[in-house]
Amino acid sequence: MRVDPKRQRDRMVNDQLIARGITDPRVLAAMGELPRHLFVEEAMARQAYLDSPLPIGEGQTISQPYIVALMSELLQVEPGMKVLEIGTGSGYQAAVLAKLGADVHTVERIPKLCASARERLLSMGLFSVHVKQDDGTLGWPSAAPFDRIIVTAGGPEVPPPLVEQLAMGGRLVVPVGGSRRVQRLVLVEKTPQGVLQSEVCPVAFVDLVGKHGW
Ligand code: SAH
Repeated sequence: MRVDPKRQRDRMVNDQLIARGITDPRVLAAMGELPRHLFVEEAMARQAYLDSPLPIGEGQTISQPYIVALMSELLQVEPGMKVLEIGTGSGYQAAVLAKLGADVHTVERIPKLCASARERLLSMGLFSVHVKQDDGTLGWPSAAPFDRIIVTAGGPEVPPPLVEQLAMGGRLVVPVGGSRRVQRLVLVEKTPQGVLQSEVCPVAFVDLVGKHGW
């Protein structure tokens, strides 16, 4: 049986995103357009639009579509903004941010994933994504400050360098763990009155490993 990716995407957007309260039309459009099946291994392509995370090799996963949409919506990305992502993985979240018009800087600690994501994003013509191999808990100091920061792996605390590298008025979305299996999704906002932190919902991400990770 042939799979029709566009039809699968439309169903994903309706049944998984709109049905659960995602309303940002730009996020819905970006995820309705991006070929998520090209971000997973070929053997997994048929499962790419299911309501779950999927393995991408090296013991890592591409997040569930709803979580990608939720975090993208929370970030409130406007075209031209400079966005930092920690945890490139497959490059899918970075591609969504690029579709929203962001200038994306993304950091991945595993060399193999870093190289394949870079190649994949270039082959799709997403030239506004810069991929670097490093410990992302240190941020990307030479490119700071960032209007938005997103962390797609869960660590024990909000990495302090990321708060430092956030621009005034900026938003940072990060899973923060009480345990290594379940985290709280946290929104950090840098305002003239100080750094505000609010909890969004419980989530389950792979480990953030590094100086300010596990
Ligand atoms: N955003 C990805 C999914 C991320 S999975 C996507 O759309 O596919 C989490 C990723 O974070 C993994 O690839 C893992 O290797 C990476 N990671 C974990 N700790 C990290 C660190 N300190 N710096 C950079 N990447 C890290």
